[in-house]
Amino acid sequence: MKTILTGLRPTGNLHLGHYFGAGKTWREIQNDYDFYLEIADVQALTDNFNDPEKVRRNVFEITKDLLAIGLDPEKVHFFIQSKIPEIAELTVYYSNLVTVARLQRNPTVKTEIAQKKELFGNDGESITYGFLGYPVSQAADITCFEGEVVPVGEDQLPLLEQCREIVRKFNSIYGETLVEPQQLLSKTPRIKGLDGNDKMGKSLGNAIYLVDDDETIRQKIMGAVTDPNKIKKDDPANPDICMVYYYHKLVNKEENNQRICEECKKGERGCVACKKELIEAMHEFLAPIQEKRKFYEEHPEEVNKVLDKGTQDAKEKAVETMKKVKQAMKIDY
Ligand code: ATP
Ligand code: MG
Repeated sequence: MKTILTGLRPTGNLHLGHYFGAGKTWREIQNDYDFYLEIADVQALTDNFNDPEKVRRNVFEITKDLLAIGLDPEKVHFFIQSKIPEIAELTVYYSNLVTVARLQRNPTVKTEIAQKKELFGNDGESITYGFLGYPVSQAADITCFEGEVVPVGEDQLPLLEQCREIVRKFNSIYGETLVEPQQLLSKTPRIKGLDGNDKMGKSLGNAIYLVDDDETIRQKIMGAVTDPNKIKKDDPANPDICMVYYYHKLVNKEENNQRICEECKKGERGCVACKKELIEAMHEFLAPIQEKRKFYEEHPEEVNKVLDKGTQDAKEKAVETMKKVKQAMKIDY
């Protein structure tokens, strides 16, 4: 069984974008790979260093979310990044193998710096050493567990390429030691936001979270963007540009969706009624996830057990890798 490694930053609860995006891939691959799932608290701190409470709380929040969406702790090693100091140690050694210019040119890093003007200034002039170096830390995450495969979205490919470069450089200087990871490119498309934005995202304020209660969901769906050309209740409309229909397609039944689509096109369905039907469908969709999550909320010791076991598995693997790395680098005193 090949080893696969992925990480999730504990900066907020999981939303529907995660569920239908990365989460879908993860539910599928858990049966086919030896799966290490890193709760990347150290990486979350690179741009949340001033809010440690948030990061700590979300370590447990997202672990509960991940268990609730059906990741099986018998199959997946859930671990907390900061509990594996070997990753930080590897990051230091790898940082000699990458230039500052190369990190500054990394397209993923560039995009993120531009999105975080408040933290890093207009031209990224206040960027921290830690944030600029996070691709190096990701290379350490992957190689520490000899990750052979990494599931990625298009936008994260430059990070994986950066990791491969570091691996090749390491192996060429110190001898064949590290495993060069392959990509598993995500087949799931980006999930759009209720506001019509191309992406549902935490920082975009347009997400439905798996933990949202009925009233929150009602308010969010009532505010969703519909076909702007539809003015009156019985105007015909185009469901393909309506976010309400988009979400019906995600969470409602196929036969309902055909009816909804036809009624909408013929002007036989008002947007308010359509939103109410979506609220019902969303409730039905989320109920089993929230039910499962409730178990872990009531049994935090079970969550701790999952994290402890996964972290122990990760530690064993990390110690092995560290031994090889130190031998190769002649620092195995
Ligand atoms: P932020 O807005 O703070 O960046 P986010 O909501 O984008 O947060 P991340 O933690 O950046 O969430 O994403 C974690 C993973 O989930 C990534 O692999 C990302 O590609 C995937 N993901 C996030 N949002 C979506 C979405 N709308 N559709 C599909 N996949 C998504
Ligand atoms: Mg993001």
